[in-house]
Amino acid sequence: MDKVLFIVCDGMADRPISQLGAKTPLEAANTPNLDKLVKKGLIGLMHVVGIGIRPGSDVAHLSLFGYDPKIYYTGRGPFEAAGLGMKISAGDVALRGNFATVNTDFKIIDRRAGRIDHTDTLAQALNNMFINNINISVASGTGHRAAVVLHGGNLDGRISDTDPHKNNIKILKSYPLVKNDYAKHTAQIINQFIIKSYKILSTHRFNKKRVAEGNLPANILLLRGAGKLPKLPSFKEKYGLRAACIAGAGLYKGIGRLLGMDVIKVPQATGKPDSNIKAKMKTALEVLRTYDFTFVHIKGADVLAEDGNYLGKKKFIEKIDLALAPLINREDLLIVVTADHTTSSILKIHTADPVPVLIAGKNLHTDNVSIFGERSAAGGKLGHIIGGHLMPIIIDFIGRAPLTGA
Ligand code: ZN
Repeated sequence: MDKVLFIVCDGMADRPISQLGAKTPLEAANTPNLDKLVKKGLIGLMHVVGIGIRPGSDVAHLSLFGYDPKIYYTGRGPFEAAGLGMKISAGDVALRGNFATVNTDFKIIDRRAGRIDHTDTLAQALNNMFINNINISVASGTGHRAAVVLHGGNLDGRISDTDPHKNNIKILKSYPLVKNDYAKHTAQIINQFIIKSYKILSTHRFNKKRVAEGNLPANILLLRGAGKLPKLPSFKEKYGLRAACIAGAGLYKGIGRLLGMDVIKVPQATGKPDSNIKAKMKTALEVLRTYDFTFVHIKGADVLAEDGNYLGKKKFIEKIDLALAPLINREDLLIVVTADHTTSSILKIHTADPVPVLIAGKNLHTDNVSIFGERSAAGGKLGHIIGGHLMPIIIDFIGRAPLTGA
């Protein structure tokens, strides 16, 4: 059986940009290795979640791995918490958050507390709090980011955010989004947690030192994306494949972890445009000696597009392409390269446009397409597919699809 290398270049697809001669950053980029892979296999266009649906990265990845988000998605919080290595069990509710700065009226001065870094001390100060017999864990993420897990029974993740996503207005109170006592109880705990954590953070020596040095204090946690731990069948149960995950950013490690993949550390993987993609690819090839399926996530293109930096995105795609050189002569692998969604560098948002997907391997039907791009993909043999089709196609190509009928 061929092993599968599954590469997701986050937000790599884009729309034509007049300054690039009406090409997309992917079309404008010099990508000889991606083009060679296209020649070794087939290409198509994929609506990752559904036609006309503009996906977040979390929902998009569930769909790419064949987990229908309508059934399995409960919110981003659990994935972020799992990505930070937090313990999260059935019945727990997790949220993602920012360390931020508020004034004494709880008006937000800065949603990122002056882009604070290294918030471990503050997260520890809030960790292991009890409110109404619910134990609350807090862990710090990269930069100003953090995650919160409520452990215990009688909780419901269907509650609103306390983060208004804007500066200069008051933080919001969480309220239940469904009419039940559990959601009401969970929102109340979050509101009490916010008040308690403000008291702890605003008097913490770490923040006093920040203020003395002329920096904004990180005196509040803004929370969003609440959700219960989803009940996900593992990748192994679903496909019979031993899977590994290589990613820099927390969300993608969290998705891998909750799908039962082994998360492999690559120290130079940052989840940002400065990430060492060659190191990730080298690790992926080593890991594939013992695993059947390796998911590699590459974040940079999405970050650059959301900043409107289409030239940076084009360059970053060329950096990805260079890192793919060792794959060209690997006859023992089924190689998949795609994006989780389109990110428009002009609109600076995810869009619903379909993304190119290539599948390269031995003894596959090839097509006449020789370029990896949004327009060329429309002429490929894979045609137009939905994200949920991708894993069944891969499983069939490696000869492991179950027979329907007799
Ligand atoms: Zn994404």
